[in-house]
Amino acid sequence: VEATARYRARNPASERLLNEAADVLPAGNTRSVLFYSPFPLYMARGEGCHLWDADGHRYLDALGEFTAGIYGHSNPVIQQAIVAALQDGLSLSSHTAREAALAHEIQRRFPGMALLRFTNSGTEANLMALAAATAHTGRRKVLVFNGAYHGGVLSFGGGGSPVNVPHDFVVAPYNDLDAVRALVQAHGPQLAAILIEPMLGAGGCIPAAPAFLHGLRALADECGALLILDEVMTSRLSGGGRQALLGLKPDLTTLGKYFGGGLSFGAFGGRADVMSRFDPRRPDALGHAGTFNNNALTMAAGLAGLTQVLTPAALDALNQRGERLRERLNGVFTRHAVGLQFTGLGSVMQLHATDRPLRNAADLAGTDDRIKALLFFDLLERGIFLARRGLVALSLPFGETQADEFVTALDAVVAARRPLL
Ligand code: PLP
Repeated sequence: VEATARYRARNPASERLLNEAADVLPAGNTRSVLFYSPFPLYMARGEGCHLWDADGHRYLDALGEFTAGIYGHSNPVIQQAIVAALQDGLSLSSHTAREAALAHEIQRRFPGMALLRFTNSGTEANLMALAAATAHTGRRKVLVFNGAYHGGVLSFGGGGSPVNVPHDFVVAPYNDLDAVRALVQAHGPQLAAILIEPMLGAGGCIPAAPAFLHGLRALADECGALLILDEVMTSRLSGGGRQALLGLKPDLTTLGKYFGGGLSFGAFGGRADVMSRFDPRRPDALGHAGTFNNNALTMAAGLAGLTQVLTPAALDALNQRGERLRERLNGVFTRHAVGLQFTGLGSVMQLHATDRPLRNAADLAGTDDRIKALLFFDLLERGIFLARRGLVALSLPFGETQADEFVTALDAVVAARRPLL
């Protein structure tokens, strides 16, 4: 109560903007993830890894647009690419050379994507991957995981009751190969696909055990289902995503977030025999339309980012910074002997109000969200911006100085609140 009262007093412009927006948007909201009580911050501007809110406060941006903002704000290379595309006429009602160039660049990094297609979002990429799998196998069921998030209409976590696309879903516990095996035994002949995030992202940055993922590969082969890896979030863990780190070979992969250089983006692709069904020359071709699938700004920004900024080496260095930061943040919790932790991989992490090991969604039952709220509001006061739910995703400009700032702020906050934690 005290923390939110202080927040309200500090952020009158955000509250006013929310109230104005609430006339036309439900609770001022058009992205569910952005809402929190009493009202979310309104940001005015970003530069590098900093944000300024509507009341003029400056923040270290430790959220990085829910992992999509890997380039930070206002990267000059991305800006120039966008301006160049604008000057070429923006939208040309046709193909442009940039599409194939971006697709080639992605394929160099994800060689398993023999053929791929672009969409406007990760959500659409997953929808289309499922369409491809059901068409390819002639089957209808899809095995997914409790706590998984594959987009607004493919969501299997807590948080409300999403209206999912009407696939016949079989929901398995994450990181539990025996349970999946039992479900595959029961439903195998009807399964079109096993769809999985290599790390539960929105579900709490809980990594899949490598043996679990390899086990799924084998089970998919056994029953003739396609293995679809949703690397929308984990693609940033190395140049070739988590599949490259683990030597895992999915049939299809879905991508999103940073590949569009910070603009709306999605892609799905994989085995040529599956993806060639989208060849419009085929009599049995699958349709996949979308006015902005090849939108000029995304293609240009994505290509410039991958070719000129986000080399696999830069990505590896960013992930190493993330590993070190997570260790240091967890060191703060250990030093103060509080039952909190950051989970995650590389430059993506998530705060949890428990220190027990987390394997899946069930392990999160009963954790106290008020503790996360308290740390969130306290960190905001000290100029650190992360997701209200506790997600942290570093951007390229987020360096060691910023890591020091974050650790110092967390240490001060935990020290001050220790009796409540
Ligand atoms: N899949 C995963 C793993 C995600 O984290 C997200 C978004 O957070 C999506 C899919 C959906 O992507 P988009 O928000 O671009 O629709």
